[in-house]
Amino acid sequence: MNRDERTELILRLLEESGALARGHFLLSSGLHSAAYVQCALLLEDPVRARRVGEELAEELRQFHPDSVLSPALGGVIIGHEVAAALGVPFRFSERKGEEMGLRRGFSLRQGERVVIVEDVITTGRSTLETATLATGRGARVVAIGSIIDRTVGRDPFEIPFRSLLQLDLPSFPPAECPACQAGAAPPEKPGSRPEPAGAR
Ligand SMILES: [Zn+2]
Repeated sequence: MNRDERTELILRLLEESGALARGHFLLSSGLHSAAYVQCALLLEDPVRARRVGEELAEELRQFHPDSVLSPALGGVIIGHEVAAALGVPFRFSERKGEEMGLRRGFSLRQGERVVIVEDVITTGRSTLETATLATGRGARVVAIGSIIDRTVGRDPFEIPFRSLLQLDLPSFPPAECPACQAGAAPPEKPGSRPEPAGAR
C-alpha cells in the first residue's frame, strides 16, 4: 500500500467510524468549525484500531525502533497497536500535575531507539514533552508518528515525523464563522475534551 492509498484508507475509516464528523461545531477553544475529528471513535473497534496500527507501523518501521512510547491518554491505543505490529515493547508517559513522567515501573535504556506515537498531533506539545522525557533518560527518539497530522505544514519537530493523514480543519471565531453567517442552527459541542482544542 503506498502513501496515497493509505491516506484514502484512513479517510474512509474515519468517516465510517464517525470519527470525522461534518456539520457546525463549537470547539472547546470557543472557535466554530465545520468539521470535527475524534480519534477515539476510529479506535473504538479493535479490528479497525489494529488495521490503523499496522499502517502506521509500516511508516515507522524504517527507523528501526526498539520501542514505542506514547503520551497518555490519546496515544495509548494507537501506540500499543503500532508496537504490536512492530513486535516491540510499548510504554506510555503520563501527566501528573503539569509534569510529564514515566511511571508504573516503565524505564528506557541508554541508547534505546524510541518512536513516539500519537493519535492526533496539532501543536505537538505533549509529543515534545514526551520526547524530552525520553532523551533525558538516555534514549534516542528516532521518529514521531501520528494517525492524523493537524500541524498544517508547520512541522514542530526536528526529527522525522510520519502520519497517515494530513488534515487541515479550519476553525473560526464565532463572529467570522461562515455557517453562522449563513444562518445555520447553533453549533453543537462535539465529544468532551478536557483541554482546549488543539492544545495537544
Ligand atoms: Zn458558527
